[in-house]
Amino acid sequence: MALRSYQCSNCGANLKVDTFNMSAVCEYCGQQLTLDTEEVAEILAEREKTKRMKTAEEEQTKREEAKLKHDTELKKIESDASEFMEGARRVGQGLDTVKSGLNTVKTIATYALIGVILIFIIVVLIVLLKHFG
Ligand SMILES: [Zn+2]
Repeated sequence: MALRSYQCSNCGANLKVDTFNMSAVCEYCGQQLTLDTEEVAEILAEREKTKRMKTAEEEQTKREEAKLKHDTELKKIESDASEFMEGARRVGQGLDTVKSGLNTVKTIATYALIGVILIFIIVVLIVLLKHFG
């Protein structure tokens, strides 16, 4: 049942309803209207209903806000985790680079050693040839 709107019969402005005094008064022209018990009960019921709806809406908003906050935190955790994984991947790549560098150094050292041995053998051969030649 829709609440009858209380409008001033004199000027048409909305009436200010006073449920305590069971009356309504126009804030514009001061026209007064006496309400009966049923009308007052109806107004109070409507007010209670509006209040309950408002509370329910507020609770819904709070739940949505909490969910949003939770989702945001979850996203942050996910982002942190992926950042960590990215960091770990980079460390892995760095290690691979170091390993490959070490291998290159090893290879160069091996060739250098072979070179030194060859030079040594050549020097020994020259000395021997000069000695016995
Ligand atoms: Zn009025």
